[in-house]
Order: sequence, then C-alpha cells, then structure tokens
Amino acid sequence: MRVVALAGGTGAAKLLRGLAASVPQRDLTVIGNTGDDTEIWGLHVSPDLDTVTYALAGILDVERGWGLADETFHCLSAMAAYGADTWFNLGDRDLATHLTRTRALREGQSLSMVTARLAARAGVGARVLPMSDDPIRTMIRTPGGRLTFQEYFVREKALVEVVGVDYEGAAAATPAAGVVDAIRTADLVVVCPSNPVTSVGPILAVPGIADALRETTAPVVGVSPIVGGAAVSGPAAALMHARGLPISPLGVAAAYAPWLRRLLIDRSDRACAPDLERLGVAADVADIVMKSRAHETALARHVLERR
Ligand code: GDP
Repeated sequence: MRVVALAGGTGAAKLLRGLAASVPQRDLTVIGNTGDDTEIWGLHVSPDLDTVTYALAGILDVERGWGLADETFHCLSAMAAYGADTWFNLGDRDLATHLTRTRALREGQSLSMVTARLAARAGVGARVLPMSDDPIRTMIRTPGGRLTFQEYFVREKALVEVVGVDYEGAAAATPAAGVVDAIRTADLVVVCPSNPVTSVGPILAVPGIADALRETTAPVVGVSPIVGGAAVSGPAAALMHARGLPISPLGVAAAYAPWLRRLLIDRSDRACAPDLERLGVAADVADIVMKSRAHETALARHVLERR
C-alpha cells in the first residue's frame, strides 16, 4: 500500500514513527513543509524536513521533539561568546546536517536532492520530499511588523499577537518533482496532526498540490491537531484564530475542505461529529493524543485500517 503523508514537524514525527512501524518504509512518501526554513549563521536550516528525517531514522530527540538525541551544544556556546544570536538552538551534530545541506545548495543541487541524500545517509527507507524546491517563507504578521516563523515561534516564544499569515513565494512556486505524482498514485493520503496554518498550510499553498488532493482517488484522512478546544502543543490555536478558523476539529476540517474525506478526532470532541459530517467529512473518534511509541503505532494502524 502506497502511503503519502503531508507533514510538519513534532506532531507529524509521532504519527510517522507509527506509520513506519506499520508499513514498509519504502511504501511511505512524506511531503514536508519548508515554509519555516530559515537561515542561521549563514546555514540553510529546514526544521520540519530534519524532524521528519530524524524521526524516521530513529535518532530524533523524542522529549524535545526536534534535533538529535544525545546532542551537545558546544558550538552554540562558542557562538554566544563571539556575540552571535543564539536564540535558535543548533546542536553540534545537527550542524553537520545544515552544513551538508548548505554546501549542496551552494553547489547548485536542489533541496530535493540533498534532502534525499541526507535521509538515505541516516538510514531512512521512506521517500522524504520537500513540498517545493522553490523558496517559500511563512511570514507572521504582528502589530509590530512581520516575523519569519522561527522568529515568531522560537525567538518570541509565540507570545506576540498574530494578525495574519502569508506564504511568501508560494504563488510562483512549483511542487518538487514527485510530489503531485505521489499524491495522484497513492493508496492513502494522510494529513498528519500538524499545524493547519503554518505546517500544512504552506504545502497547500504550492499551486498544484491542492488540485492533486482533490483529484486523487485515494482517501485523504487527517488526524486533528486540536483536542478539546486547544492545540496538543504549539501555537496552532492562535494561528487558526488569526485565520478565522474555529479552534476545533471543525476548523481543521474547514482548512482542508473540500478534499478531506475522514478526520480522526478525540473522544472529548465526539460532539463535533454531526457538524463534521455536514461538512462532508467522516468523523472517526479515537485516542489521538500520542503519549508513547505503542500509542503512535496504534493510531497509525487505526488510520491505515479505517480508510
Ligand atoms: P511543528 O512544525 O513542530 O509545529 O510541527 P507540527 O505542525 O507537525 O506539530 C504541531 C502540531 O501537532 C500542533 O498543532 C499539535 O497540536 C499537534 N500535535 C502534537 N502532538 C500531537 C499528538 O500526539 N496528537 C495529536 N492529535 N496532535 C498532536
């Protein structure tokens, strides 16, 4: 069974580990968000692609949800001593990823090429595709000006008011090679429990991807990142509010209309089911907060079996 997953970072990583425990990795294609890519100390950092790759390789720091397990931060301390900005934490071994990516991009390789190489070297059998090789930057509009996603989320700790979100560069971008084809020929498309506005939103903003989701014959199944009126983690609620979306599975479904066929929602949200059905989305009630490896696998199996 060919499974395609649309993925952000930490929430996606958990479900992807479960999917990888349930289907052969070679049958899994991940389409990753690059809207929160950024440049730190002259290096091209792709936080979501790295989180997905590290998760599938079994080397992600599971507690933090980003970066490598057993990481050290000596370079970060040394950079601080030089007076560099150190609000974005780059681990010592993680730096090797960013150095390799940056060098490849400077030599003219595409982001897809270097992403595939990094994943293969980490022992990942799944195909990890950036949504696009073109630069797309998610910009957060605040009363004090525009911030990149990492400035908003990491530097400002998501404490500033959000008045809007733009996907800069998206209108002129094209999907990376393989993205549209993977969606069209999939047996199942999974929308991971990721931030609908800043993780999945940028993927959908690339012209051609939403059309492929509308046209594929594969069922498109999502897992709600919103449980009981709040995000399981991170700033999804504030960002959905800025977009005028209700902070509930209904807001998630509205963001993914009209191609979402089924949405897994938490037991505590079961009252939403009739309204979801009215939106044309089948509601599937399950335990969707993943607190352990066993839980990740159980949820992945549920997604795979109930399509
Ligand atoms: P980010 O780039 O690190 O923000 O990564 P994602 O967008 O993939 O992950 C954040 C989203 O995942 C948030 O909206 C969370 O509410 C959601 N999330 C995190 N863990 C879980 C979980 O165990 N279950 C569900 N249903 N959602 C989760």
